[in-house]
Parts: sequence; C-alpha cells; structure tokens
Amino acid sequence: MTRPTDDTGTTGTTGSAGSAGSAGSAGRTPLVELDDVSKYYGNVRALEGVSLEVHAGDITCVLGDNGAGKSTLIKIISGLHQHDTGTFRIDGEDTRPASPRDALDRGIATVYQDLAVVPLMPVWRNFFLGSEPRKGSGPFKRLDVDLMRRTTHAELLRMGIDLRDVDQPIGTLSGGERQCVAIARAVHFGAKVLVLDEPTAALGVKQSGVVLKYVAAARDAGLGVVLITHNPHHAYLVGNRFVLLKRGRMVGSHTREYITLDELTRQMAGGNELDDLRHELQGDTA
Ligand code: ADP
Repeated sequence: MTRPTDDTGTTGTTGSAGSAGSAGSAGRTPLVELDDVSKYYGNVRALEGVSLEVHAGDITCVLGDNGAGKSTLIKIISGLHQHDTGTFRIDGEDTRPASPRDALDRGIATVYQDLAVVPLMPVWRNFFLGSEPRKGSGPFKRLDVDLMRRTTHAELLRMGIDLRDVDQPIGTLSGGERQCVAIARAVHFGAKVLVLDEPTAALGVKQSGVVLKYVAAARDAGLGVVLITHNPHHAYLVGNRFVLLKRGRMVGSHTREYITLDELTRQMAGGNELDDLRHELQGDTA
C-alpha cells in the first residue's frame, strides 16, 4: 500500500485507507481495493498512485474538483476503462474488468448522474428495463407485468420510498426520487458495490437529503458504496472513508475517526494553498 501524497500540510490526520480501517473493517478483505493505481490518456495523467478500499456496510467518498480524476476513477471501477499500473482487486482477487457488463456480473453497479431512464415509461418498467421477468411458455410467453409492479413497489418500500403509483412515468418523479429508484434497482439486482456519480450535484438541499438517506439505506443493506462528490458536507454526513483527489493525485486519504468536517472542508477548499493565498493578499510574508 502506497502512502498518499499529502500536500495539505496536515499531520496526524492522514491515515492510509489501507491501514486505518473504520471500526469493524480491520482485517476484512475489502469488496473493492485499488492499490497505487494510475491511468494515462496518451500523455495526460488522469490518475496517479491512487489507493482506496470499499468495505461492505461502508461508504467511501471520493472528493475532488473538476479535473481531479473522479470520472476516470469511476470508469476504472465500473469496467469502462482499464488502469495502466497498480492493482485493482475485487474480493481480494487481482482483476481488470473487461466491460461494464463484466463489472456488473461481479457485483459492481454504477449509477451515473444522467440516469439512463426512459422518461415516458412507468417507474416499474424502468426498474426492470433490460431484465424483465416473463411468464407462460412458448408462443404464450409474455411480460409478467403484475410481478414487476408488485416487486417495484415492495423494493422501493424496503428502501423507505412509498411511491403510491408505480405506473406513473418515471419522468414525473423528481431528480432525487429518480436517483433513489436507481439505487433501489441496483440493490434488488444483487449489487455488492454501488458506485454513485455525484448523485446530489444537481439537487437542492432537501432533495440531496432524500438521496443521502437512500445512500445510507444501501449501506445499511450491507452494500459497499463509493460516493463521488465535490461536496464535503454531503460526504461527511454519510461517509466512513474520504479520498481527496487533485489533478489526478491523491492528496489525502482519511477514515472518519481521523478527520473533522472542518478539516475535510479546508482540504477540499485548497487547504494550505488557500492559507498561502490569504497571507499573500494580506501582505503577510512571515
Ligand atoms: P473529474 O471527473 O474529476 O472532473 P476526469 O477524470 O474527467 O476528472 O479528468 C482527469 C484528467 O484526465 C483531466 O485532466 C482530463 O482532461 C483528463 N482526461 C479524462 N478523460 C480523458 C480522455 N478520454 N482523453 C484525454 N484526457 C482525458
């Protein structure tokens, strides 16, 4: 495990995600582990030396501004792109998922910000899109609509979403509710790891709260969650581990017991760079 490059200047708060597990995760094999992973696009260094762990019943938050490498990280974990160097393990086994289907078959489900839903189709239809159960046989085989309606309602209820009418077009739901349906869907189809791409980025405070509640529900259902965000407040509300990226490099990796929200916010805002700037603007050269 490579220690993170910490250019934040903080001491004592940076526990390597590999060594300082959250309570109860010590000694357990992570569901997903990246160890010193790098990815280049031609000469562009999109990620360099990034390490993280995702445990069952934990939420690992990946924080960073634009260009930090968050999307690249999602693409590697979800099997869309492959890393160049370092190690990617699923359940302790070295791996290199060949495609998103491959990653999904191994239990990694990714919910993208621009959800792939058909807005005019009912909620239940979107819930089962591509995996519709059928009944009957031979020429009488047809979609089991009743089962899909009942299952969708029950699964959403299990996540705490009481949707009165699963026949309404999914496009009539709010952005937050649509994210929740996508999370419930991944749980239903047996995901072990849920990767969420900035699920609260386009939402207001109330809707963000609703989504974070379901992110926590997925965690409580025993999934390992990767939450990509640029909002330290949202991350700190639910996260156990925090990985900070900047221009493709890992500039911090903390477990919850070693970092406060104030410190996480400070590091996200630029940490020492911001302090230097303040001193410069105040003409304080000491
Ligand atoms: P983020 O999602 O945090 O905004 P990205 O992972 O999209 O960051 O990008 C990290 C860096 O890699 C950026 O400098 C970006 O320009 C570069 N990059 C990402 N994808 C590609 C690509 N397909 N080809 C070339 N450069 C890329």
